[in-house]
Amino acid sequence: MQNIQLILQIYTGIFFFLNIFLFDYPLMAVADAVLFGGILALQLDLRKHLNIERSARLLIGIIVIFLSIYFVLAQGRNYSFIWFSMVPLLAFFLLGLHLGLYVSGIFLTALVAFVIWFAPQWPSYAINIPAVFNISLALFAVLTISRHYEKSREEAFSFLAKRNSELEILAKTDPLTQLNNRSHLDDVLEQELSRAQRHEHDLAVLILDTDHFKTLNDSYGHIVGDQVLKELSEVLLSHVRSSDNLGRWGGEEFLIIAPDTNEGGAVELAEKIRIAVAEHRFTDEKLHLTVSIGCAAYSSEDTLVSIVQRADNGLYQAKHDGRNCTRLGKTTRILRK
Ligand code: GH3
Ligand code: MG
Ligand code: MG
Repeated sequence: MQNIQLILQIYTGIFFFLNIFLFDYPLMAVADAVLFGGILALQLDLRKHLNIERSARLLIGIIVIFLSIYFVLAQGRNYSFIWFSMVPLLAFFLLGLHLGLYVSGIFLTALVAFVIWFAPQWPSYAINIPAVFNISLALFAVLTISRHYEKSREEAFSFLAKRNSELEILAKTDPLTQLNNRSHLDDVLEQELSRAQRHEHDLAVLILDTDHFKTLNDSYGHIVGDQVLKELSEVLLSHVRSSDNLGRWGGEEFLIIAPDTNEGGAVELAEKIRIAVAEHRFTDEKLHLTVSIGCAAYSSEDTLVSIVQRADNGLYQAKHDGRNCTRLGKTTRILRK
């Protein structure tokens, strides 16, 4: 919008001098000066009110009025009508497809009616140097505006594409820990389950729950609790493989989806994580945290619900057995504590 205003100002500035020195047309030079002043007023108005839509409509209004005055005064001289070619382009650019089409259509119809009515009374002109100059400048203006139109469309597209991918990431991310959120974990688990089914691959699910987190919150406050969850996420992240999917399952619970991992591998991973958390020295040194972990390995009858349920059973068992330990879902096998 500002660029279009600037392009038009440069043009009216050039034409102000051309009309005085080349075309010998002082009346049009005055009209150029008025248009220049009008665009300047619009620039100030836009800066003050930041209302782009209103500015765009006013700008098209000023241009249409200016061109109408120009066509009346020029009486067909110097192929003045070539400047009409700018109107649809500016109208589409500034007003959008529908309104742009209306404005261009109405302006073109009025112009044709005007020419049919008045042209027989006008003197006929040969193509002279000023006419060639006028035509070239008009075509150059159309080119400049088209290029600008295209460039701003490209910018808008790449801005939207960037925003889109940002939103996509945002939709998958837990805002506190920056890990995958629950809905993304659901999607990943579904994909991994069907991959495990199709290719008969191993797959394990681990649910981690921080022990006595309510007590930590009650003793140190929610802000410290949040900070601990963030730091815990980093510890977890540094102990999973890049092919594993770690995410926040809910409040102070985390889920790990580990492809190509069997029962033994799941327990090994869970113990590695459990010990790392228990041994981790938090930034706030008075804090100490442990986690209980439930695991489940995929079997061919599993669904998304059943495998998570089994891991949850393991977690329940781990809590029941005194916390800070790992249990396989639905088994009574007690692992080292
Ligand atoms: P358990 O060992 O049985 O898991 O005990 P717990 O205290 O961890 O479990 P409980 O379910 O009683 O409490 C969970 C606590 O986690 C309560 C809740 O306020 C806290 N919590 C959940 N989400 C957040 C969070 O985003 N930030 C903070 N600071 N606390 C949270
Ligand atoms: Mg919990
Ligand atoms: Mg807990």
